[in-house]
Amino acid sequence: MRPLHALIDTQALRHNYRLACQAAPHSRALAVLKANAYGHGALECARALSDLAPAFGVASIEEAQALREGGIEQPIVLLEGFFEADELEWIAAQGVTCVIHSEWQLEALASAQVTQPIAVWLKCDSGMHRLGFVPDEVPDVWKRLGDMTAVGERVLMTHFATADQQESALFGHQLATVERLRQALGQPPVCWANSPATLSHPAAHGDWVRPGIMLYGADPLPRANDLSTELQPVMTLESRLIAVRELGAGEPIGYGSRYVTEQPVRVGVVACGYGDGYDRHAIDGTPVLVEGARTCVVGRVSMDMLIVDITELPEADVGARVTLWGRGPNGAILPVNEVAACCDTISYTLLTGVTARVPRRML
Ligand code: PLP
Repeated sequence: MRPLHALIDTQALRHNYRLACQAAPHSRALAVLKANAYGHGALECARALSDLAPAFGVASIEEAQALREGGIEQPIVLLEGFFEADELEWIAAQGVTCVIHSEWQLEALASAQVTQPIAVWLKCDSGMHRLGFVPDEVPDVWKRLGDMTAVGERVLMTHFATADQQESALFGHQLATVERLRQALGQPPVCWANSPATLSHPAAHGDWVRPGIMLYGADPLPRANDLSTELQPVMTLESRLIAVRELGAGEPIGYGSRYVTEQPVRVGVVACGYGDGYDRHAIDGTPVLVEGARTCVVGRVSMDMLIVDITELPEADVGARVTLWGRGPNGAILPVNEVAACCDTISYTLLTGVTARVPRRML
């Protein structure tokens, strides 16, 4: 069997969820499980959190359906709403909650024949300019929703564009805008905060918080705070050395000969490549752990393999355990954020990008 797998530490997931609750003690925390729980396995993560989380968030009815079919009974929020009017029947029948962001959805809801009222989260575009009604439209839309027989409970929501930035005028503007609306609408339940806002902006906590990335143990803050340093990695992407070779000085390594040895080296070939979701943009020097000791990638990542420098690790041989990110042997940790920084990307893309051929093993 190919030695690559993603270990999913459900105790770490539970720990991180509890940390979100500790960060926002007066809010309920909806666990965001979209994109297969950021690559970790949505149903398994939902099951691991089912006695803790009062609700889950997903991106589509396909994702919601997989949870319902797996026996998840909690409210599920469709964070992008529905895509076609004929989804409403299933949404109502399954007690799924729906984000409403556009006029066409209001029209579909107004004429929907459903078996029970649908709970809706009205999305306000307070400044991100992705989805939502602009603030001036919100009071009228709120009232129209309240008059519809197909609509049950209403929550007001928004999404922050810059909650992960240290200083952001836009964040302050977005929060002030939705807080004004909350007052104007008579203090309905609200949901504003993603992971960075949950961890570092108590004023934005509201009735619900919606943490995603922090549940999986990646710190979304540019500078860690007391809470975020407590996050534990949930996914460990782990493989083994499948070949070891010694090269003299001046030898090229890998496609395009990007890396050329300056002195004699020992390198190991790891069974993991971009076909598994390991980012091909990884630069020379991207960290990895070999039997828990830090070393780095040399040369371009191939589809099924990458190469690491083990010159300083004479014990490392074929079969040595390689941690691409997560928790290595002997308590060593390689945060996925560090790898992402060397690939000019963010933890979110690495975690969601682990491909289907990588077996997930729940711990
Ligand atoms: N809410 C919405 C609407 C989102 O789109 C996302 C993530 O993209 C989240 C919450 C969770 O964000 P984060 O993973 O930064 O906590």
